[in-house]
Amino acid sequence: MRLSSRSALHAALAVVALLLATLVWTVVRAEPAPQPSETSQTDRADQAGQSTDSTETPADEPAFPRPQGQDLGAAEPGQQDQHSPGGAGPDAATPDADAADEDSNDDTRRPSGAEALLDNPLYGTEPLAPRPCPVPDLNVHDSTSMETFLNAVADCLDDAWSTQFARADLPFEPANRVFWSEPGTSPCRDYPSAAGAFYCRASSGIYIGTSDVVEKWLGETNGVVYASLLSHEYAHHVQSEAGLLEYYHDQRSEAPTTAERNEWTRRSELQADCLAGVFLGSIAVTYPLDEDDVQVLLEDARATADDTSAAGRGEQDELDEDERTHGTADNSEYWTHAGFTEQRPGACNTWTADEELVQ
Ligand SMILES: [Zn+2]
Repeated sequence: MRLSSRSALHAALAVVALLLATLVWTVVRAEPAPQPSETSQTDRADQAGQSTDSTETPADEPAFPRPQGQDLGAAEPGQQDQHSPGGAGPDAATPDADAADEDSNDDTRRPSGAEALLDNPLYGTEPLAPRPCPVPDLNVHDSTSMETFLNAVADCLDDAWSTQFARADLPFEPANRVFWSEPGTSPCRDYPSAAGAFYCRASSGIYIGTSDVVEKWLGETNGVVYASLLSHEYAHHVQSEAGLLEYYHDQRSEAPTTAERNEWTRRSELQADCLAGVFLGSIAVTYPLDEDDVQVLLEDARATADDTSAAGRGEQDELDEDERTHGTADNSEYWTHAGFTEQRPGACNTWTADEELVQ
């Protein structure tokens, strides 16, 4: 096993890398991390306004499922026209403007149609470059601590994927962030919702409840599960920026049966698992993630998959077909691990994978 054979080296490297990374980080990131912005409400409202044209299905990704088979439901229909003026302002932040690609308005290079899915330029890129990503200590019972933690990981995600898209000569804008601790609304749905976290394509936004996720993850204290969750939602943004989601949504909506729609969904969700693994693998040394963390990551991949076990389903032997949207535990672990070890987007082409790998 690659990981175990290198674990001792990793441990030593991690200490050195952490010191170096902290130094580099301090210099490179002299400007403060994005802070809640007063303009964010307006920004989101503007984005919401665009989405009200609603021939386009609300870009509501199926929610990342909650562990332990509890009631984190499938995505609800979007509520893109509802913007509660009285809603308390959620904490929100916009990525640094300078992180945006200068050519980000040039959509002509963004692939579309089947090509975006099957032969995306991202698939041909090299493994993500290792980067310094030392995360702060996390106190899961402190919403502010969670927000700081998530922003640190999101900064790394912005850097990692901006670089990777530039390598593929594709335009890229970092995702918007809404790490909520108070109720609010998005173009896709209000929150808090059954989903503790979701991606909304209409606002290019990642929405995570800083306390809700801790509750849904049963008080898990290892930050890697929240870093993984954020990386998964960010992966949906990567799919969107890479031109994948548009074609995927069209195809899924045209699929004649629930079984076929769910297969589309599973390929998308498992690709997001894999892309999350790609990112986490690339920062494993500087985050740092040790072997135990990786074990927690893979167990979490299993726990957040479709619960197909008889035990998990009470008296039922099999999960209803219309509930199988995220893949089996084995497949979720498989794709997370594949991304983590290979660290290149091309390892995540679930769209051409054999059917048994996307069950
Ligand atoms: Zn997802």
